[in-house]
Amino acid sequence: MTIDVAKVRNETPGCARVAHLNNAGAALPPRPVMDAVTRHLELEAMTGGYEAAEENAEALDRFYDAVAGLIGAHGDEIAYVENATRAWDLAFYGIRFAPGERVLTTTTEYSSNAIAYRQRGVQVDVVPDDADGTIDLDALEAELRKGGVRLVSLNHVPTSNGLINPAAEVGRLCRAAGVLFLLDACQSVGQIPLDVDEIGCDLMSATGRKFLRGPRGTGFLYARREVLADLEPPMLDNAAADWHAPDRYEMRPDAKRFETWERYMAGQIGLGVAADYASALGMDAIAARIDVLATRLRSGLAAKPGVTVHDRGVLRSGTVTFTVDGRPPAEIVREARARGVNVNVAQPVTHGYDPDAVDAVVRASVHYYNDEDEVDRLLELI
Ligand SMILES: *Cc1c(COP(=O)(O)O)cnc(C)c1O
Repeated sequence: MTIDVAKVRNETPGCARVAHLNNAGAALPPRPVMDAVTRHLELEAMTGGYEAAEENAEALDRFYDAVAGLIGAHGDEIAYVENATRAWDLAFYGIRFAPGERVLTTTTEYSSNAIAYRQRGVQVDVVPDDADGTIDLDALEAELRKGGVRLVSLNHVPTSNGLINPAAEVGRLCRAAGVLFLLDACQSVGQIPLDVDEIGCDLMSATGRKFLRGPRGTGFLYARREVLADLEPPMLDNAAADWHAPDRYEMRPDAKRFETWERYMAGQIGLGVAADYASALGMDAIAARIDVLATRLRSGLAAKPGVTVHDRGVLRSGTVTFTVDGRPPAEIVREARARGVNVNVAQPVTHGYDPDAVDAVVRASVHYYNDEDEVDRLLELI
């Protein structure tokens, strides 16, 4: 299967207006996602919110199998959450740490996750990078052997670098050590084929708006059946747990224990449609197309005098980070946008554990619906 670029561009109204190379920030949604969201909002306005939910019960429910299907999970292992940060938090704050238990993470850990470690006061050990700039698997194995590790928290594809971390290799080491594995798949879901069994993660958090092309304000948490019983979300509402009045409650047995009753229904429907849309195109075809465009952009940039590409890793994502001598990244972003090309600035603060973190960089991130002309427009502009 390959991507029919003309067809997917046709189904993406934004393509007619802008060269959108900020997919790591928020991708342009396709028409079916927009339609599903707006139709539900209209139904809510015209018939009432509860009545609309009842009428669209099937589409709301489809969300679970659609997302599960995309990542090789079961529907009862999926929770709808409003964004990736909260999804990650619900998992992390749901882990009962014994005194002295450690967390292992990577140099490219997302800043919000680092704040959560500090807030809970757990000990964090940052596993160094290997020579290629991804997590050093030997160093990880050595840390696991030292013992006392409760959780390995891995960034699959970081926010501000084009590298891809070897998630499945990390998963194998975690399984062998009997340690919980939480994968931040925020940048990889919708971009790279993911299978939770192949990767061996127990928990996975993701957002809707990035490579999945879903609505903003949506995300999900995957929690493996086997670990669910050990995780108590830090907050529970009356849909996540049953209240046996007056002094007992019982959590739901499935991943819905991480949800709240009230939510952005139109967003949940839209995210389900986005997951089905990605599955229908095929994740292998999506990843292959992204690789073609990212390689074109990276090599085009690298060939220009005064341009430095900062991406590391052996395997690379659709995110291309670079700087231009003597030109502040914010200025490049501003000028590109004025010419109809969307790119973004990535701040070093998001990679606070990284001793080699560079100052701000320009982040251009391609998706399968971009075309070669759009990539070349950015190259010419630079
Ligand atoms: C964007 C991002 C997040 C946060 O996602 P939100 O949906 O904004 O909460 C977490 N981790 C990584 C790696 C990200 O790129």
